[in-house]
Amino acid sequence: NTNTPRLPSYLKTSIPTGASFNKIKKDLRGLGLHTVCEEARCPNIGDCWGGTDGATPEESKRGATATIMLMGDTCTRGCRFCSVKTSKNPPPLDPHEPENTAEAISRWGLGYIVLTSVDRDDLADSGAHHFADTIRRIKYKAPQILVEALTGDMAGNLDHVSVVAKSGLDVYAHNIETVEALTPFVRDRRATFRQSLRVLERAKQEGVRVTKTSVMLGVGETEDQLMDALRELRKVDVDVVTFGQYMRPTKRHMKVDRYVEPIEFDRWKQIAEDMGFLYVASGPLVRSSYKAGEYFIENVLR
Ligand code: SF4
Ligand code: SF4
Repeated sequence: NTNTPRLPSYLKTSIPTGASFNKIKKDLRGLGLHTVCEEARCPNIGDCWGGTDGATPEESKRGATATIMLMGDTCTRGCRFCSVKTSKNPPPLDPHEPENTAEAISRWGLGYIVLTSVDRDDLADSGAHHFADTIRRIKYKAPQILVEALTGDMAGNLDHVSVVAKSGLDVYAHNIETVEALTPFVRDRRATFRQSLRVLERAKQEGVRVTKTSVMLGVGETEDQLMDALRELRKVDVDVVTFGQYMRPTKRHMKVDRYVEPIEFDRWKQIAEDMGFLYVASGPLVRSSYKAGEYFIENVLR
């Protein structure tokens, strides 16, 4: 079938092992936290949870990254690439979630944590205060843990972006996902490229040290469109960009246009670095949070 490109071998990953990985998996069971890593069956789980090669289990735990999901598992939006379930009226927020999450994370001892959530257009503040409260409580209990918040676009309300940006986090991430021309076909119709730029701009204006975004390649974008997107991101001072391959979660989701060769990912890394991004992760299996702890701790935040 010419419509569906074959999966290249470099996109097939092995089942993770290793002391750090198993410890994190075991801890999670007892903590009742939901990770995107497990729920999305992310192919990088061995790398992210395994931490640095050759390190002791304690050292690698400090370099390990996990992505925790807040505000439930049901999104009010429906992006065409995403497998999260959708409803207009998801269950209400758990008022104990900020404290329970902070308690679990502080006991856990990872060096870097990514907090993300579904989009909650049903809530007046898109969940901004819940997000900010969770971050504050983590920082209070465990100030040494670096916190990245990966948020939605807060329905375009920049005051709600500020609420999260001023919570004490280290990295504010919001994903543009694709180039401007493809945004209406890839993301939920309530999301726009310009709105996403404004979210990233506001976070930076609030004094966040590092802002970050991610782009999926292989959905039909052209080189020129991607160059334009990168220029726009630089204009609003985005520090970090990641490029990964779009993978279709199920047949109901949008098709992969093509599998981008590893060498092309390398080229985009070079291009983005030359444009002044502080840090670029680029590769077929790279995800927004891929090994973020290891890279950020070594290269960006210390
Ligand atoms: Fe998935 Fe986020 Fe889109 Fe919701 S807003 S459908 S969680 S990508
Ligand atoms: Fe988890 Fe993100 Fe790493 Fe995947 S890339 S294992 S979701 S931290």
